[in-house]
Amino acid sequence: MDTKYIFLTGGVVSSVGKGVTAAAIGRLLKERGFQVSIQKLDPYINVDPGTMSPYQHGEVYVLDDGAETDLDLGHYERFVDISLNKVCNTTTGQVYAEVIAKERRGDYLGGTIQVIPHITNEIKHRIHMVARTTGAEIVLVEVGGTVGDMEGQPFLEALRQMRGDVGVENSLYIHVTWMPYIGATGELKTKPTQHSVRELRSIGISPDMILARSDHPVDQELCDKIALFCDVEPRAVVPMVTAEFLYEIPILLENAQMGDFIVERLHLEPRQKPDWRVWENLVREMRREKPKIKIALVGKYVELHDAYMSVREAVRHAALEVGVDDEVLWVHSSELEKGRGLELVQEADGIIVPGGFGERGIEGKILAARYARENNIPYFGLCLGMQVMVMEFARYVLQDDDVNSTEFDPSTRHPVIDLMPDQRQLSDMGGTMRLGLYPCQLQPGSVAANAYQVEQVNERHRHRFEFKNAYRAQLQDAGMVFSGLSPDGRLVEIAELKEHPFMLGTQFHPEFLSRPTRPHPLFKAFVSAIVSTQKS
Ligand code: GLN
Repeated sequence: MDTKYIFLTGGVVSSVGKGVTAAAIGRLLKERGFQVSIQKLDPYINVDPGTMSPYQHGEVYVLDDGAETDLDLGHYERFVDISLNKVCNTTTGQVYAEVIAKERRGDYLGGTIQVIPHITNEIKHRIHMVARTTGAEIVLVEVGGTVGDMEGQPFLEALRQMRGDVGVENSLYIHVTWMPYIGATGELKTKPTQHSVRELRSIGISPDMILARSDHPVDQELCDKIALFCDVEPRAVVPMVTAEFLYEIPILLENAQMGDFIVERLHLEPRQKPDWRVWENLVREMRREKPKIKIALVGKYVELHDAYMSVREAVRHAALEVGVDDEVLWVHSSELEKGRGLELVQEADGIIVPGGFGERGIEGKILAARYARENNIPYFGLCLGMQVMVMEFARYVLQDDDVNSTEFDPSTRHPVIDLMPDQRQLSDMGGTMRLGLYPCQLQPGSVAANAYQVEQVNERHRHRFEFKNAYRAQLQDAGMVFSGLSPDGRLVEIAELKEHPFMLGTQFHPEFLSRPTRPHPLFKAFVSAIVSTQKS
């Protein structure tokens, strides 16, 4: 069959959940037996979000191949249960870098390089690459930002051209808009949607479908009005009221017959009947009253929960499977240093120290690790959280507070965490960490091996520093188990403590491989440990 393309654009305002919508549509199609991939086109000029502050951009999501990507890729992978690759997140920075490199090589044979066709061709090339590299039969393409943004224009122009390239029967344009609610009159307004569709039309794209987001119930009359003014069939207007739970959205879209409409418009014959039992069960479980556990998440970007999106989701997946309700207590690590927020750590049944960079808040995280170790509170360290756990334990074992990572104190007496040798010569910050999937050999009988139930795993990484092997024997003798190592034994990938209900840290980021229907084994083991040690 021809590859089919679905293009998602946004109108009116951003942050209305376009990424989750794309992910949910992907699920509708997977349920019908199709191979789906999703691509995010990000109009910003950074090459990737790897160098951006989480405050600006939320979490940096890492793929198997080591690409540092937008957090929407996390939604795509979780909802559709697929593994994406680096072309699935394309930015203006990448497109221009490639075109300029070709120009310098002389590939354009003296031509004048222009936005149309050179930039748009490069964008289209990257869209086609998704199908070629992932084998997808249907490629969903989401454009970041909203229609009318200056930097988004080359992307929208490329999408416009795509219909001519691949044909009407192989392309579908979906516009996601927002309907504001006017409190004084108690009504939802369609005018911004009309304007945004007009803007889209002015660049030559007529949407085939409109997904109207709102915080309030949308009646049929409103959908009919949008259909009339925006020139789409009434059944092509899908109202999408903000859902209580993210994982409910695919079911809501299915009930709105969105999946049927899309396959019909793309001239596809569904290969199987969608089976939503697992998802319905997930949502039912979310709604059910369950015993509660509290988890303190000690980080330095906690004001912005998006900075820990995958960790948050991974905790939820595990909690659902174990049958408990998780409440995350967001603890600011710098506040802990100032003696504030400790009561939240004390209130928690478990502690997570997630990934991070830079010195701010490190001592607060060490404090949290110490509290967990001394009070037998389950602790799960993710990347930096593992390094912190090792530093805290080494301070205790060596009876010396001058133990550190050289990331925070280059002249520390005991650099238990140090730069990896292949990181020493690097001057570029972008894309130069140890990134992506690496194998890890598990030590039989360890907490980690018991959780995974296999001997070797592959997990996603994003770090420059590692455990310094000179300290291995000493910490081992004191009760630390290096339960996960690189197959050559050189790199410590997992450390855990004996004589503790659950104190484990991973140099990798397990949160990126957790799926709603397949919780990550280590998160599950952590949540189970919380349940069996819970105070009240
Ligand atoms: N800053 C640490 C390092 O580079 C940890 C990175 C992380 O937590 N992702 O090794």
